[in-house]
Amino acid sequence: MTESNLPSFPHATVLGYPRIGRRRELKRALESYWSGRTTEEDLERTSHDLRLATVRRLAELGLEAGNAAIPGSFSRYDQVLDITFTLGAIPSRFTDGAQDAGYFDLARGTAAQPPLELTKWFDTNYHYLVPEIGPSTPISFADDRIVREFTEAARPSDGGIPVVTRPVVVGPVTYLLLSKPEDGAPEDFSPLSRLDDVVAAYRELLAALAAAGAPWVQLDEPALVSDLIAADHETVSDAVRRAYAGLTAAAAGTERPQILVAAPFGDLRRASGDHLSVLAGTAVEAIAVDLVRGSSPLPGSGSGASDAASAPATSSSTVPGLETKTLVAGVIDGHNIWRADLAAKLGVLETLRESAGAAAIAVGTSTSLQHVPHDVDDEPRLDPALAGWLAFADQKVAEVVTLSRALAAGRDAVAQELTASAAAVAARAEAAGVVVPEVRERLGELSDADFARAPYADRAAAQQARLNLPPLPTTTIGSFPQTSEIRTTRAAWTRGEIDDAEYTTRIRGEIARVIELQEELGLDVLVHGEPERNDMVQYFAERLAGFATTVHGWVQSYGSRCVRPPILWGDVSRPEPITVPWTQYAASLTDKPVKGMLTGPVTILAWSFVRDDQPLRDTANQVALALRDEVADLEAAGTGIVQVDEAALRELLPLDAGAQPGYLDWSVRSFRLATSGAAPSTQIHTHLCYSEFGDVVGAIDDLDADVTSVEAARSRMEIVPALAATGYARGIGPGVWDIHSPRVPSDGEITDLLKLAVAEIDPRLVWVNPDCGLKTRGYGETTASLTNLIAATRQVRETL
Ligand code: GLN
Ligand code: ZN
Repeated sequence: MTESNLPSFPHATVLGYPRIGRRRELKRALESYWSGRTTEEDLERTSHDLRLATVRRLAELGLEAGNAAIPGSFSRYDQVLDITFTLGAIPSRFTDGAQDAGYFDLARGTAAQPPLELTKWFDTNYHYLVPEIGPSTPISFADDRIVREFTEAARPSDGGIPVVTRPVVVGPVTYLLLSKPEDGAPEDFSPLSRLDDVVAAYRELLAALAAAGAPWVQLDEPALVSDLIAADHETVSDAVRRAYAGLTAAAAGTERPQILVAAPFGDLRRASGDHLSVLAGTAVEAIAVDLVRGSSPLPGSGSGASDAASAPATSSSTVPGLETKTLVAGVIDGHNIWRADLAAKLGVLETLRESAGAAAIAVGTSTSLQHVPHDVDDEPRLDPALAGWLAFADQKVAEVVTLSRALAAGRDAVAQELTASAAAVAARAEAAGVVVPEVRERLGELSDADFARAPYADRAAAQQARLNLPPLPTTTIGSFPQTSEIRTTRAAWTRGEIDDAEYTTRIRGEIARVIELQEELGLDVLVHGEPERNDMVQYFAERLAGFATTVHGWVQSYGSRCVRPPILWGDVSRPEPITVPWTQYAASLTDKPVKGMLTGPVTILAWSFVRDDQPLRDTANQVALALRDEVADLEAAGTGIVQVDEAALRELLPLDAGAQPGYLDWSVRSFRLATSGAAPSTQIHTHLCYSEFGDVVGAIDDLDADVTSVEAARSRMEIVPALAATGYARGIGPGVWDIHSPRVPSDGEITDLLKLAVAEIDPRLVWVNPDCGLKTRGYGETTASLTNLIAATRQVRETL
């Protein structure tokens, strides 16, 4: 392509926009299609309408319609699966012998094959489908949906305004770094070895986009900011150089759109290596950096980082190669929901521009906006004061547009917006509840003693004397199946259709049934079953001061699944006991011990939008103190065992290896603060929701829980020796039933797993439990599986 006649990058853009729809239209369309109530055409029509509505909304909010400012970031299910389809990289397990596997077959599984694995997308709560790549997986430019979606916006069939979008596509290096080797691939095979094939296919995709008239394409390469990928800096840099040399090299007769490489979620320049220089050394035309998490790429310019926990460094020299490129400065946080301090952001942008280290500066978001809800103005029940401090996707687009106007025409051009932003920032800082002196004082008075319990040996003796449990005690993780009656009861109560008394009666009835079932089955440590909880985080957020919840604030978790994260905006405290009455009622129905059940501070933070005006450590400790009071009240009510779930401990692990020790320190300490007020005779359990422990295995020991339950059935108890190797020598409940599928494990299978466990660790430490809570299971498989679990336990007990 010739340089001169290429459209320059727009002055303002966002890296992506929510796809699910303001009223979760995509969710409904998907689910009715899957259930057979609607056709594929219906689904396509809804998707088409959603895309056009998005394009129009973004144009209305001020992004340029004619110049690739509006991202084409729609996906029917997942942006990584979209690439798998574009490349035709269908794993052979879906193609062997069978007819062609469709897009949703890979996402949801077929009768013969489980779906692709779901894994967290960097440090968001979005989950992508892991590609499975082997030495002979087909890879070509096999599907042109991305091109068709571009054309559809450029030539709207309904005669609406034509919009030149910027297709947003997962980049080739990230795609392969997130892939796993297909089953049966040679031991030393790495998906990255298929890079040349992938690049060849992307070249064809780019040529097709150019032919359709796309001036720009965005290739997302978040893997470049992460140390949590199984490749070292050299390997990744080498892949980046090769991939982008391949994509930018001119080939006779083909053209390509200009390329924006986006690196959201962190810093391209870390102790482990500098990927910004590598990217700047390629021939791509623009680079988008995350200035909320990452450091500024140009000399003299500070950073937009607002998270005091990770103060980034300022660089001191120019980056060779960047002077010919557009730098898209991601100053507006795409990952959290706070209204920006526009004057401060403008300062960052002005310094960037003055440093003249890049050919041009454009204003952008730090990440795609798919991680925040659509629109604050769509929240009728939010306190108006709080609403004034928030920016969801639409408000963030407006912020980006304002900043770019200020850069172009000066601060006076946006005087009103700057005044409003400053007023919101000031109002937030001063608002009642944001700083609560009593909460601060209590935090300030903590000493190391508040983070430590008596030695484990003393605790273990006191607990055994009190609880008198058999060897290999059996228990569950907390929730029992959430039947439609339970959901109906909760919904009716929330809508005010039944009163408190009726609600309590119904929930108590459910608790009584669950206790009776557990007694019949012969479990040793019982639970109340959690029927009163809509969600393990939201339930607590609704009952703690300092949190707010939304009505339409849905964010895609995976596919059609959405979550509505609570907003943690103020100092946290507990107005009154939360779980005590239900636990106490359950305990009154049985002579067996009933576990109290709480969600831990790290998990509450991980699944909420968290305030950005103080270090996470302080926020976590505030939540921990509220939970500490709950533990004390449970104890006072006679509870001998309290479980504090930290399902998300691994999830919040920073992508930057340099930040991981600090994170593990504060996260472990907040758990200990929540639990260490317990008497030695009170047994503290924790539950961690995954089996890939590599990075946090040492931290599990540091939590100092008396019993830790983990997912282990699928990995066949791998965690037990790994944990033992770190010196962990307290109770361990490696899950023996994979609750992620309706399959009932036989007692023989469970016996085998238990034998593996007792061979690896002192049998007196081993507990027997499922992998996770049972709320998504039905009663049929629950009763059958728990029956087998208890039979297996009895057999293995006899061998001890
Ligand atoms: N106690 C919770 C439950 O059983 C734990 C859920 C989880 O670990 N995700 O539902
Ligand atoms: Zn779990």
